[in-house]
Amino acid sequence: MKDPLTEIADEIFEFTKERDWDQFHTVKNLATALSIEASELLEIYQWSTKNELSRAELTPDVLARTESEIADIAIYLFLLVRKIDGNLPTIIKNKLKLNSKKYPADKCRGSSKKYTELPK
Ligand SMILES: [Mg+2]
Repeated sequence: MKDPLTEIADEIFEFTKERDWDQFHTVKNLATALSIEASELLEIYQWSTKNELSRAELTPDVLARTESEIADIAIYLFLLVRKIDGNLPTIIKNKLKLNSKKYPADKCRGSSKKYTELPK
């Protein structure tokens, strides 16, 4: 039995394979597409004067558009990880290890400062 990440990744790869789109999926093109989709997510909130904190505060339309862009971002992320023969859980775990060094909990708890501005 496949884990859920592998299952969804396989579904994405099958989708692109059936359309012969892999030929367009260079690392640069996938990174570009990922960034564009992240911008599309931001565009939903571009002129919002609210600071929504949770799902309950989003209108059904905004929630649906948000989920749609999240899906686009995730799809390109999976494709990009595959393109570089990466392993997403390993990549994330490695980054979390680095972030825990950059942002020690005892120095950054409750702070939104960048790691370069934290006390030494
Ligand atoms: Mg989109």
